[in-house]
Amino acid sequence: MSNFNGLMQQANLIGGQWVGADDGDTTEINNPATGAVVGTVPNAGHDETERAIAAASQAFKSWSKTSLAERVGLLHKLHDALMDNQEDLAQLLTAEQGKPLFEARGEIAIGAAYVRWFAEEIRRTKGEIIPAPSNDKRLLVTHHPVGVVGMITPWNFPSSMLARKIAPALAAGCTVVAKPAPQTPYSGLAWGKLCQDVGFPDGVVNIVTGDAPAIGGAIMSNKEVRKVTFTGSTNVGKLLIRQSADQVKKVSMELGGNAPFIVFDDADLDAAVEGAMIAKFRNMGQTCVCTNRFYVQAGIHDAFVAKLKDAIAAMKIGDGTEDGVVQGPLIDENAVKKVEGMIADAKAKGGEVVLGGGRHALGQTFFEPTLITGATSEMQFTTDEIFGPLAAIYKFEDEDAAVAAANATDYGLAAYAYTKDLARAFRMNEGLEYGMVGINSGLITTVEAPFGGVKESGMGKEGGSQGLEDYQITKYTCVAGL
Ligand code: NAP
Repeated sequence: MSNFNGLMQQANLIGGQWVGADDGDTTEINNPATGAVVGTVPNAGHDETERAIAAASQAFKSWSKTSLAERVGLLHKLHDALMDNQEDLAQLLTAEQGKPLFEARGEIAIGAAYVRWFAEEIRRTKGEIIPAPSNDKRLLVTHHPVGVVGMITPWNFPSSMLARKIAPALAAGCTVVAKPAPQTPYSGLAWGKLCQDVGFPDGVVNIVTGDAPAIGGAIMSNKEVRKVTFTGSTNVGKLLIRQSADQVKKVSMELGGNAPFIVFDDADLDAAVEGAMIAKFRNMGQTCVCTNRFYVQAGIHDAFVAKLKDAIAAMKIGDGTEDGVVQGPLIDENAVKKVEGMIADAKAKGGEVVLGGGRHALGQTFFEPTLITGATSEMQFTTDEIFGPLAAIYKFEDEDAAVAAANATDYGLAAYAYTKDLARAFRMNEGLEYGMVGINSGLITTVEAPFGGVKESGMGKEGGSQGLEDYQITKYTCVAGL
């Protein structure tokens, strides 16, 4: 069994020690492409998490007071360690998650880019001196680390979702207790290993795997944890927001999406299809910013469908480690059943399956990339996140109707629109009720920009200059009697 150059840790990191669960219990991790056992991780719970919080709380006392130069230096070392180990980290990610290797390599690179971004950005978090109403006073605004941060992350981007949290937290001077998703713990544990290797002090980064309600319960109920950052489903996010109320914990929530992708008659057809493929099929359709609903104007509808069908049919499906593969397996059986159910629902309501429609001959959790036309607002995927390789096309005539349909959802994460009309592009910027809008682009995530949703897609931003704010408190000090 490969240990991926020592990066695959089968233990938890608590206070600088690699440890098992108190009762020795472990959980098996399987490769979704082959079903093979990758390894085991501790099935830890409340007590282990309490110790991780205590270690983080102790470490915060000194870490929060390290010099800016020291923190920035360590973050640059962490960036370099991630890139030096990019191939092993990508292989590990594909082994536990299933995505094609080229995507896994890209995920490691963007994670490293977040680390470098926040190492640069922390040097520019300036305070303020506000003009005081009288001459004997000075009014200062300063920024300080929020404290111990609890982090809970999903399986679809097991490395970069942690990057967007760990990097700003460490830059700000916070310490970390992280719980990676149970399907993909190794990419999270590898962050602990690399942080330790490059010299972050013991207790600054702690990683605990195991029972979600027990670990989450400890994080939410311990007063030492001053902030919780969560990426995952809206339902679990709502539960954590409720739990945070007791202690009025600072929270940021990166939750589910239901992205519309609007193609107007005046769009560049080739560009729209290229963007559609990225926005729909990256990570087998398992991204929070994946297109859920394609709205295509009547004049371009048939040409778009024909080109999209060809592009989908050309995708190579298989184990993510094989050359040329662009679609791996879905994460698990539940994910397959969800997509199957949505296809059955659409067919029963008059949708036409133009391509795919079922499990792939490769077995396991491989699924045929699927194209459905004739989608209507009654179909389940109009309201529910698909999280799979299913493209549903709704035909529309009129711009206002398309925008209204696009906004008719409780979610508000990402939206896309393709048009060559500049005025219409700005109408999309203003009219689409989403935290992120891609005009003539199906891939908008970048470290420089604030990533995050509105409505039930969440609160808070990751990346951009805004991505630090969640890990800091803003303090106002009045100096009087001068
Ligand atoms: P999930 O079921 O909500 O799980 C996310 C994490 O929460 C996992 O680590 C999970 O552990 C944990 N969790 C579940 N119940 C918990 C509890 N009671 N207390 C504490 N932790 C708990 O989501 P997922 O299926 O892994 O991820 C897919 C979802 O994430 C999609 O909705 C997607 O849109 C969203 N997502 C959003 C963004 C964004 O930036 N907005 C990015 C990526 C993904 P267990 O699995 O052990 O329960």
